[in-house]
Amino acid sequence: MAEEGVTVAGPFRLGLPAVIVHGGAGGWKGLRSEEEVVSAVRRAAEAAQGLNNAFDAVVEAIRVMEDSGVLNAGLGSVVNYEGEVEMDAGLMAGDLRVAGGVAAVRYPRNPIVLAAWVARNLPHVILAGPAADRLAERLGLPRHPGPQERMLKRWREMMRLINEGELDRLPGHAAAIARLYGGDTVGAAAVWPGGEAAAGTSTGGIMMKHPGRVGDSPVPGAGFYAENGVGACAATGIGETILLARPCIYAVELLREGVPVAAAAEAAVARHTRLMGGDNLGVILVSADGYAAAAMNTEAMPVAAAGPESRLAALLRRGGKIK
Ligand code: ASP
Repeated sequence: MAEEGVTVAGPFRLGLPAVIVHGGAGGWKGLRSEEEVVSAVRRAAEAAQGLNNAFDAVVEAIRVMEDSGVLNAGLGSVVNYEGEVEMDAGLMAGDLRVAGGVAAVRYPRNPIVLAAWVARNLPHVILAGPAADRLAERLGLPRHPGPQERMLKRWREMMRLINEGELDRLPGHAAAIARLYGGDTVGAAAVWPGGEAAAGTSTGGIMMKHPGRVGDSPVPGAGFYAENGVGACAATGIGETILLARPCIYAVELLREGVPVAAAAEAAVARHTRLMGGDNLGVILVSADGYAAAAMNTEAMPVAAAGPESRLAALLRRGGKIK
């Protein structure tokens, strides 16, 4: 651990094209096996390598993690206070022209695919709620099957604790619950030869959130940020703090100023900790020259990266290293 409370991994020399993904910063309560989660992020980073550009690589990496069912996005999404899945996802290209997000959606199995459609086809950046769901249905996108049984079981446990007065009344307490149950949101950041950069995020949000709550994940500059010729970043953690403090923009700005990638990731998390307190953020960052790093102030975050010069996949733990 370098800065107080910040765990950093990297720099990893990936070469170009370079992709780094995460499977969510948070607690690690062993709800799924470490192998399952590390395998999901590894498959995502490797699948993304086969694409033709950074934007498509981000979509593919996130789609693979949404379909894994072991991370908090797509099939594995957590549920809100009413026991229902409501997902956010978004992505952007580093030209600052192509960006799309969907917020509080229930219909699509792969919210990142809908967000990519918005980015490519609409003169808007973010679509929310039932209208976004109707669009997904009209486009013929596969339908989400609804919450997994393990999420409903967790929801019933939480409701019991609330009803017995063991937790403060929700939803104001969602952040504490997110800490109890970990994050597991997914994100990806990619750079391609020639400097093209892209980043994106997808999530079921925070367990027991208020219905209609939108976090950082569909918002460019909050859940993700990319600039061609500079680099790309994706964030995970308590979305309310990320929306306010914008660590991804900060990290990419540091890269633009010439700060090396691991130092930039570390500084972004250290600043966030100073502004917002600890236990609320993880970031992945990749620079236009094909180096990547991850940093967090939480207990754990699964990370994988792939490029022509190296690849890795591991669960980063507080104070630990990825070798
Ligand atoms: N940032 C996500 C949200 O607040 C949650 C996470 O990253 O785990 O919706």
